[in-house]
Amino acid sequence: MQSTILNIGQPKACQMDKKEILSKFSADPERYYMVKLFDDEKFERKSCATCNRFYWTIDGDRINCPDHSDDTYSFIGNPPTKKRFDYTQAWKEVESFFVKNGHTSVNRYPVVCRWRDDLYFTIASIVDFQRVMGSKVVFEFPANPLVVPQTCLRFKDLENVGVTGRHFSSFCMIGQHSIPNSHGYWKDECIDLDYRLLTEQFGVDKKEVVFVEDVWEGGGSFGSSLEFFVNGLELGNAVFTEFQGDLSNYKTLDQQIIDMGAGLERFAWLTMGTPTAYDCCFGPITNNLLQQVGIDANNELLVTYFTKIAKHMEQFGNLSEVRKNAIKSAGLSDEQINKIITPLEGIYLIVDHIRTLIFAISDGALPSNVGGGYNLRMMLRRIISTMDRLSLKFDMNEMIDTQIDYLKNTYPELEKTREDIKTIIRIESGRYENSKLRMEKIVSKLNQKPAVDDLIRLYESDGVTPDYLKEMNVISDIPSTFYSKLSELHQSKKQKEQDQVSLEGLPETELLYYEDDPKEFDAKVIKSFDKYVVLDKTSFYARGGGQEPDHGTIEKFEVVDVNKHGNVIVHELKNGIPKEGSTVSCVVDSKRRDGITKNHTSTHILNSSTRSVLGSWVWQHSAFKEEDHARLDITHHSALTNDEITKIEKLANSIVEKNMSVTIDNFDRGTAEQKYGFKIYQGGIVPVKSVRIVSIEDFDIEACGGTHVKKTGEIELIKITRTKRIQDGVVRIEFVSGGTALDYTKQHDANLIKKSAELKEKTELREKRRGQKQELREKFPILVDGITQSKIGTNIVDGIIVDMTDPGKPNFCSTTSDQYDEFFHISLGEKLIEKDPWMVYCGVFEDGDKVRAIIYSGEQAAKNKKAGDIAKTVSEVLGGAGEGEKTNLKKMMR
Ligand SMILES: [Zn+2]
Ligand SMILES: [Zn+2]
Repeated sequence: MQSTILNIGQPKACQMDKKEILSKFSADPERYYMVKLFDDEKFERKSCATCNRFYWTIDGDRINCPDHSDDTYSFIGNPPTKKRFDYTQAWKEVESFFVKNGHTSVNRYPVVCRWRDDLYFTIASIVDFQRVMGSKVVFEFPANPLVVPQTCLRFKDLENVGVTGRHFSSFCMIGQHSIPNSHGYWKDECIDLDYRLLTEQFGVDKKEVVFVEDVWEGGGSFGSSLEFFVNGLELGNAVFTEFQGDLSNYKTLDQQIIDMGAGLERFAWLTMGTPTAYDCCFGPITNNLLQQVGIDANNELLVTYFTKIAKHMEQFGNLSEVRKNAIKSAGLSDEQINKIITPLEGIYLIVDHIRTLIFAISDGALPSNVGGGYNLRMMLRRIISTMDRLSLKFDMNEMIDTQIDYLKNTYPELEKTREDIKTIIRIESGRYENSKLRMEKIVSKLNQKPAVDDLIRLYESDGVTPDYLKEMNVISDIPSTFYSKLSELHQSKKQKEQDQVSLEGLPETELLYYEDDPKEFDAKVIKSFDKYVVLDKTSFYARGGGQEPDHGTIEKFEVVDVNKHGNVIVHELKNGIPKEGSTVSCVVDSKRRDGITKNHTSTHILNSSTRSVLGSWVWQHSAFKEEDHARLDITHHSALTNDEITKIEKLANSIVEKNMSVTIDNFDRGTAEQKYGFKIYQGGIVPVKSVRIVSIEDFDIEACGGTHVKKTGEIELIKITRTKRIQDGVVRIEFVSGGTALDYTKQHDANLIKKSAELKEKTELREKRRGQKQELREKFPILVDGITQSKIGTNIVDGIIVDMTDPGKPNFCSTTSDQYDEFFHISLGEKLIEKDPWMVYCGVFEDGDKVRAIIYSGEQAAKNKKAGDIAKTVSEVLGGAGEGEKTNLKKMMR
């Protein structure tokens, strides 16, 4: 492992003007640009007759820099090499050249940049080896020198993709990196290698290779660079990161770095001489699609047209201007444009965008409306609307298959996620189709041509892409600034939280919880202020990685919060603080810690369980672990189904049952990354050189600073209590483990038993009533006759008290018999007053723990004061709502 450190994050005011650096460096070429090769091969240093830039060549007749020569893009239709190499073969050539010249070939890093918190996607090969620590960038090389085929994603030139013949949304950067020391080399050898790569390995004529003087600066360091061109095509740029400071005062870096980045697609294009770089970089897929549409991509017309496009890119600022002029100078008819150029551009765009989606989804990114997912959603929507606009009926799965079949020659890892990629693209395409109706409505309300800001707003808030507007003929061209603006908004917006408390000069706290982890210990008070205490050592776990802090006591004071500030642990106490310099006895609440610890290990188990049940795109989004509950937010496209939840829970508990060992090892960060891959960064980046790897055998391996059980069996049980889709692409899983889970299950089971008993009771009651109703239906006429025909005085009929009076006065009839229910009282009351308008009926019955009464007054009786009073009194006793205490009512009825 080789490493070196650079400062980053210098204030804007310190940033230097590249032109100034260039003029300073070019004024002293011997010092900054002269390399041994130029001397050996008798290169001449010239200044461009058009733009005055300095370049190096062995061609005595050359008067212009590559950007301004007549031979610019002359390789189209006439490649300068004898051998032809497509994308896959070109990498094999590059790799074998560097390997035989002492380089280690390193596998590509993920395109999702998990190791940097300021980037969503990997944008250059050098990013692979940069680790940010505070305000510094540390370079960590797994080998020196090395070469890497790094897939890079860049979204700011999206409108050029498919149109210019050479812009891609993702491309392979050949990264050649070296630290000059006993293993690595510096400028002389770098330029010699690059020159020999072109001339010896690829067979380019020495006369065609031109090196142009340039500079690079970024984050407080800078250096010279040499761009190399063949036939006007820039193939690569060798950057020498050499100095630190500013132009008036700079010094050589302790460790310099060679950052040579070259475009693999361009190497292939140069040797193939196809009209565009797309024709030789997507394998058989472009040809397949062209055949489906019936376009011959190799004809003379395309060579002329795309050569013009390439040349015009330097002359005109605006893409539609470039296109218009190329059409004019190539002499294309409208029919040729509509039948050949436009569909061709569409096909190139589709193929490019699919390749980018394949890499991004394979590395765990999901299309969404947040963060880096934005760009992915945009690309898929562009693919679909381009197909719709051009009436192309391509099969998405077939395109993915053809691409992966081709790409796996260089990137075999894509095979593993083939089906997952199809799944995500299918779901996301479906979402877009479903949102079209809404988009149509929004578009129909637009009354004027939207400006760029309107376009951004339309996309951000309504998901309406400019490609859709183009498809609907609302706009004819997508403004050139749209994608760059959108990309600025979403490419690197990851924010970092800053520590607020300053505890300068305090020694690092010794972390006992990473050692013997005693729950009772004595420590010395280093500092105490307000309600805070800093000790020389502590076993109180400080809040971090989603794990809540320990509680307990320091002397007689309660510990309510613990936080980490740099390497100092600060305890927050309640009701006072101990004196500085004193020795205090501390007790960690071990019951609380146990709960949290079980929940933390459970989070790791659930994380791997969800990935294995749902798909490779699942990553931990965030997590939270308290004593009696925890949650894990994962990246996933849809809400979880009951079936999925059951499967996840089952798998997680099978890991608990297997009683797997949980082991903790400390590794050098680079070694850990090489050994386990970037999946270890589930909890985010690790800003330290040494990472703590927590392994649950080979089921789950993560970099993590939390507390964990020693054996998974200690967890006893993991129970998912709730899941919810909390934002686009993120699902929250709430869960409990250990004793809490057992209690939860007990409670849950008890609830189930109670519920089923209640259900049974209800069903039985319903059955009983059904029977009673039938009985009553038969019995009623007799009962009603029996009551209404009772003699004057008090009678009892079937448990009903009947007080009959003289004709023309109210009759009273009531019952509290528990053999009658609500249905009975209603039916009887209705029938009685129908038959005898002087009848007053009151039926009292129990309903749960309440008592209710049903009162009916016949038409005549209702006019009578006494009957009204009784009804009123009953209802008063029952509390107005027809309900009341059992005892009161029974008393009243007597
Ligand atoms: Zn020039
Ligand atoms: Zn963890």
